[in-house]
Amino acid sequence: MSQTNNAAPPRHPRVIALLNQKGGVGKTTSTVNIGAALAEMGKRVCLIDMDPQGHLSLHLGLDGESVGDTVYELLLEPEVPLEQVMVKVRPNLDCIPSRVDLAAAEIELANDPDRLKRLEAKFAPHMGDYDYILLDCPPSLGTLTLNALSMAQEVYVPMQAHFLAMQGFSKLLETVGEVCRNGVNVDLKVSGVILCMHEKHSTLVREVVGELDGFFEENRGNPMLSAHAKVLRPAIRKNIKLAEAPSFGQTIFDYAPWCPGALDYRTLAERIVSQSEDGSRDDVVGGSESATTPSEMPETPVSGATAPVSEPKDHMDPSIAAGTISVEPRIQADEAEAPKSKNSG
Ligand code: ATP
Ligand code: MG
Repeated sequence: MSQTNNAAPPRHPRVIALLNQKGGVGKTTSTVNIGAALAEMGKRVCLIDMDPQGHLSLHLGLDGESVGDTVYELLLEPEVPLEQVMVKVRPNLDCIPSRVDLAAAEIELANDPDRLKRLEAKFAPHMGDYDYILLDCPPSLGTLTLNALSMAQEVYVPMQAHFLAMQGFSKLLETVGEVCRNGVNVDLKVSGVILCMHEKHSTLVREVVGELDGFFEENRGNPMLSAHAKVLRPAIRKNIKLAEAPSFGQTIFDYAPWCPGALDYRTLAERIVSQSEDGSRDDVVGGSESATTPSEMPETPVSGATAPVSEPKDHMDPSIAAGTISVEPRIQADEAEAPKSKNSG
């Protein structure tokens, strides 16, 4: 009784990692509230808390201590299926919570050659259950973040438009480039920047946003960027309600549904949906069928970006430390005057 000939292929969800190696920039706030806004719009959403701090779980009212199995068990225990760790937190909104013991996963998985693919493998049978899967990454580039980047198609970069924001973004693009080139995920693309805690009246902020806008314009066609990559609007205004909501275990739509923060995240979620529905997302669907192999990945000149600032490599995945994935910045010839970081390799 096969009816598959004319049937449309199963729709894959958009799998989006919210990534910035800098801490406290709005990754978790954005993951929760974009996810909640998408769920309100009728999209089926799953949020995954990849951060041992467990802030995303707490923000949704899930206390990691009492919640049962978490991302830790999902990654470490082969017999634990996704259903066992999934929590339905709101209509259309599921969450895979985490708690502090997830930090140990970095060490416990260190010698497993498949450690970067564990999350993706557990999720594979359930991809069709969702329209959006959002991964809240910790502020480090270790096994947990690489599991998220392995599964994701797209990266959104929450950031504050402050001094050195451009350097931080450049560094992040280098990281995504290395993840592609080393075969962790050859199809990963950066889809945009989300401006968080935004103060538009500051001259510095306006200058940084101009620089970021210019970067996306100059780098159209860069293989690390989606075709529709840009600085998303609206910027999320600094709004105290967004900072208060997590302590009540509520999304901004539960806590203060008409405050500026709620309005901003609702509109932003609509824009994120339209990024995929305007047909410009051809570059991120059907990822596994890509003909590009890691060794064929082009070197990716990034014009307009200042050389990245070297950062301490704490919580780094062993494959990176061992040089399988290098996150050392590659300085472009035209950036020769920029400060060079020490290359360990
Ligand atoms: P970490 O790197 O530690 O995981 P993060 O990047 O996930 O941090 P958040 O936890 O989302 O950052 O935000 C950092 C702090 O800023 C939190 O206290 C949060 O409530 C607050 N915050 C985030 N966005 C806003 C905003 N638009 N207005 C006011 N406060 C905000
Ligand atoms: Mg966070």
